[in-house]
Amino acid sequence: MNIAIVGAGYAGMAAAAELAAAGHKVTVFEASRTLGGRARAIELEGLTVDNGAHIFVGAYRETLRLMTLVGADPEHLLRRRALHLEYPGELLIAAPRLPAPLHLAWALLAARGLSWPEKFAAIRFMQELKRTQFRLTEDIPAAEHFRRQRQPERLVRYLWEPLCVAALNTPIEQASMQVFANVLRDSLAAGRAASDFLLPTVDFSRLFPEPAAAFVAAQGGEVRRESRIGAITRDAAGFQLDNHGHYDKLILAVAPQHLPKLVVGLPEMTAIVEQVSRFEWEPIVGVYLAYAESVRLPFPMVGVANATGTTAAQWLFDRGRIYGQPGLISAVISAHGRHEAMDHDALVAAIHAEVARILPGIAAPRWSRVITEKRATFACTPGMSRPPTATPLPGLMLAGDYVAGDYPATIEAAVRSGVAAARALLQPAA
Ligand SMILES: Cc1cc2nc3c(=O)[nH]c(=O)nc-3n(C[C@H](O)[C@H](O)[C@H](O)COP(=O)(O)OP(=O)(O)OC[C@H]3O[C@@H](n4cnc5c(N)ncnc54)[C@H](O)[C@@H]3O)c2cc1C
Repeated sequence: MNIAIVGAGYAGMAAAAELAAAGHKVTVFEASRTLGGRARAIELEGLTVDNGAHIFVGAYRETLRLMTLVGADPEHLLRRRALHLEYPGELLIAAPRLPAPLHLAWALLAARGLSWPEKFAAIRFMQELKRTQFRLTEDIPAAEHFRRQRQPERLVRYLWEPLCVAALNTPIEQASMQVFANVLRDSLAAGRAASDFLLPTVDFSRLFPEPAAAFVAAQGGEVRRESRIGAITRDAAGFQLDNHGHYDKLILAVAPQHLPKLVVGLPEMTAIVEQVSRFEWEPIVGVYLAYAESVRLPFPMVGVANATGTTAAQWLFDRGRIYGQPGLISAVISAHGRHEAMDHDALVAAIHAEVARILPGIAAPRWSRVITEKRATFACTPGMSRPPTATPLPGLMLAGDYVAGDYPATIEAAVRSGVAAARALLQPAA
């Protein structure tokens, strides 16, 4: 079979690796020179960083499996840390190395900075989700669910809101509680290792897409960089990609906003195009601040609690402790929020003030950069409809973080969709 994949993000490269492992020669077309799409390496002041801070959790089962498959050993490339939510001087929730569910019960009961009623409310919340097997009778905004479950305001601010916004990249007033429940089911409520944080020690292009490209090449396939596909048309037995030749089968692994233009010549795709055109978008802003090399945060990743909306960043990462880039702090701001009204200087000043709250007296950063991904992910709202893997056209599958599935727009959703598209393509009926 002659198979093409358009897009070398995590979804496209997962599909390519899965097909290569099954013995197929695939050709991947990628518009950019860099592989990884929305999770990719960039250069800043002579340093290789990412387009924004990303983390994995232990629940990213398929991502870890495929990394291993292509020879990118997760044990070496990811630093595993037991669940550790720290707001320096305010709150600490840390899971001990106990088997599930004791690790979570212990983490909540021993949390520093939560009152006993808040601890019991958190345990009650998780027990209620477990009792209903993490299925809501009706999908509602997460904030509404927290209210109905009488979750104290501080618990929401320090625990549920940061986890929900980090996973769904959607403000809790709009975020789907069902999708957040799916995330909690597979992370906090699953085996202890599933709630571990996995902090990458290399950039996101080297973490998986580059080793996957080498794996594909070793099986006789190819990844063509700087090869933007303009138009796809049907021919007698498959698809024509611009002047790049004929392919029997095709996986489109582009971001949803790039899909409509690509399939303009395929009228069978109209309903899917209309479906993704209804998506709304959430940004992610990454801010890099370069301090003196001696600067260290108390933990590789620390939270910044959004007390009455006064803070800008949600998480700070110490790249010295993670990537060997001493003094470089990266901040991440997920979803829409008040930071969008600030210019770059004001944003950097606000985040520097947050760092200075943790490290009093710290001098201003030597340099800083703000990277805004305006369409980082779709807004993950209650009951939203996402297109399935299979399209009305035989031999044409979709892959990407937006394809229907249990998870919000994440690396794991992208990888799972890529694997699903590859397997669907190999079915005799496809
Ligand atoms: C700043 C930021 C931080 C994030 N943090 C996290 C995190 O901590 N954890 C997490 O799990 N997820 C995180 N995410 C989400 C995660 O990065 C995405 O869900 C995932 O990378 C999407 O992968 P994808 O393969 O579906 O799409 P994409 O990464 O968008 O890949 C699509 C690829 O298709 C290419 N392409 C598009 N059009 C064409 C064309 N016509 N021809 C050829 N190629 C084309 C693009 O160049 C791109 O490489 C973050 C996202 C951002 C932006």
